Amino acid sequence: MAPCYNEAECLTAFVRRMQTAAEAAVGPAYELILVNDGSIDATWTVIEHLAADFVHVVGVDLSRNHGHQLAVTAGLGLTRGDRVLIIDADLQDPPELLADMMALMDAGNDVVYGKRRVRHGESAVKLSTAKLFYRVLSSISDVEIPQDVGDFRLISRQFVDRLNAMPEQDRFLRGMVAWLGGRQAEVLYDREARHDGKTGYTLQDMLKLATAGLTSFSTAPLKVSVLLATAGMVIGLLVIIYTLIAYFFGAVQRGWTSLALIVVFFGVGQLGCTAIVGAYVGRIFMQIKGRPLYLIQRVVRGPSMDREV
Ligand code: UDP
Ligand code: MG
Repeated sequence: MAPCYNEAECLTAFVRRMQTAAEAAVGPAYELILVNDGSIDATWTVIEHLAADFVHVVGVDLSRNHGHQLAVTAGLGLTRGDRVLIIDADLQDPPELLADMMALMDAGNDVVYGKRRVRHGESAVKLSTAKLFYRVLSSISDVEIPQDVGDFRLISRQFVDRLNAMPEQDRFLRGMVAWLGGRQAEVLYDREARHDGKTGYTLQDMLKLATAGLTSFSTAPLKVSVLLATAGMVIGLLVIIYTLIAYFFGAVQRGWTSLALIVVFFGVGQLGCTAIVGAYVGRIFMQIKGRPLYLIQRVVRGPSMDREV
């Protein structure tokens, strides 16, 4: 399935190349779901024509622009195949990689993702910010999220069903797939420049995605208040000791001691309360995401357990 936002110029070339690659890798039994994510160019008209010309094409028109992650989510919800390939419509991800991905899945993997070796046609700023983001994310997130990996991946039916069953609003799919666990493998590829058109991802979209990634897979930012509260307590204690010593042995301005003590009391008190609230908010946040507590990969039983119990 491919999300499409203002991809009118790319789509026909994409469908042709994807069709050849899919036929080579899986034969005629496949669907190519194109999700139009509220494009403002002729993308939907092109999809309608493609659906009329190519038997495998399924066109889906979202009501407005929902963003890449939700367009992919909508497409995943409509897939019916045993295996699902998520691929960009701008031919930056080579469809021909499907054959290698299928082979790795035949070997027992649940997810095979494309890992970018080089990225052509991307600005230095995008490359360095993406790199920094992935490094930060992997250092603070609770699950191992592979680096330099986008959403280009082949996923087994079972794992797609599990993804679809995750109700979280803020969707950072590459993290969610990593969270699923199972056997995941990578294939290396060179990311091409866009076939045509221009990126639909603005800086704002990238920041939004980065925030979703950081906050959905880690409560580390919330813990800043705990750190501040701890530091505040230590500093506060030192200030109290200093103030009292100065009060009893030094010459201090009238009212300074009580003022200093009041500032310390309320400052440390507020930081402490924020930390406590933060701890609860973190737990509420994890709870409302409604993720399953665990996922079972497989169960084996001894032969005597085969009969019905
Ligand atoms: N896309 C989308 N909705 C959006 C932005 C992008 O469905 O709001 C699609 C786009 O058509 C493409 C994929 O998501 O198939 C990746 O987007 P893009 O190529 O703009 O991002 P980049 O490759 O520059 O990161
Ligand atoms: Mg692209």
